[in-house]
Amino acid sequence: MENSLNRVFLALKGLDIKCNVPLSTLTSFRIGGPAAMVMRPRNAEDIRRTIQACSQFGTPFCVLGNGTNVLAPDAGYGGVVIRIDTPLTTPLFVDTTVTCPAGTALSVLARESVNMRLMGLETLSGIPGTVGGAVAMNAGAYGAEIRHIIKSVRVLRNGRVLDVDTKKTDFGNRTSNYAAPNTIVLSATFQLEEDDGGAKERMLETTRQRKEKQPLSLPSAGSVFKRPKGRFAGALIEGCGLKGLSVGGAQVSPLHAGFIVNNGGATERDVLELVSLIQRRVFEETGVQLEREIKLLREL
Ligand SMILES: Cc1cc2nc3c(=O)[nH]c(=O)nc-3n(C[C@H](O)[C@H](O)[C@H](O)COP(=O)(O)OP(=O)(O)OC[C@H]3O[C@@H](n4cnc5c(N)ncnc54)[C@H](O)[C@@H]3O)c2cc1C
Repeated sequence: MENSLNRVFLALKGLDIKCNVPLSTLTSFRIGGPAAMVMRPRNAEDIRRTIQACSQFGTPFCVLGNGTNVLAPDAGYGGVVIRIDTPLTTPLFVDTTVTCPAGTALSVLARESVNMRLMGLETLSGIPGTVGGAVAMNAGAYGAEIRHIIKSVRVLRNGRVLDVDTKKTDFGNRTSNYAAPNTIVLSATFQLEEDDGGAKERMLETTRQRKEKQPLSLPSAGSVFKRPKGRFAGALIEGCGLKGLSVGGAQVSPLHAGFIVNNGGATERDVLELVSLIQRRVFEETGVQLEREIKLLREL
């Protein structure tokens, strides 16, 4: 591995590369050991070159946006993290559409859209990820989802840059066909609507609700489980009396049972043990099988 990493490092000369970067600084859970290399692309070519070098020398790679839905391994990662979290250009508004690079913060895009008197993104403004991560995950909140407003994407697939008109069926329950490693989102175009006069208010109201109901002062990856049909994961977990339950430094948030928070020093193992415990108890007591929403970096 050491040897193949050296070869990748040499092949990527001139790119923005950092070595031995703690994954705890790249993920909102603040968990994870060192990543051997982190590459921040300036363009699609940087990503293509990195993937090609990794494939050639047998080195694993994965893609991260803001790392707000990912749990990283305590032992670190022996490959290259391609971190797409910088907005390379500003959002481009044309009539009621907006196009922006994958590394743009969704919150920034939502705010700018509201300022441009457009609606559709305002209730997603509190999601702390990037546009690329939101497309990959079909992120959603307060009744809105990426699939409702996305029009097209520019992606890197099999070494080629493609423009694709998206279909609603490309997106599922916190999944999409536009996710790494097979497809890397470079930019996305959203079809918004003219503001009905309430977009700013809806943005402020959802922000207020998040501050009130979510444990935003502690590291987490948001809702740990996908929403089961017709139910709420948080309510099921709370109903089983699991609010506040801890394994090591990981705890079921006393504020919102759908979140696991890192109370300090939590490890990947603590979180995974707590996840299994919750799944077992909720299944035994309610018959509902909770499906994990957060992703493991080692499975990306
Ligand atoms: C406090 C808090 C609140 C949250 N609230 C919500 C919520 O209301 N609704 C919701 O849906 N989520 C929520 N989340 C989860 C998370 O913010 C979303 O899933 C978000 O869309 C992830 O974006 P990211 O850039 O952080 O992606 P990451 O976590 O970095 O990656 C997530 C997945 O997307 C892939 N990916 C990232 N960028 C790209 C790209 N450019 N191309 C292809 N694949 C890519 C990664 O490989 C990975 O599989 C919350 C998280 C936190 C911490």
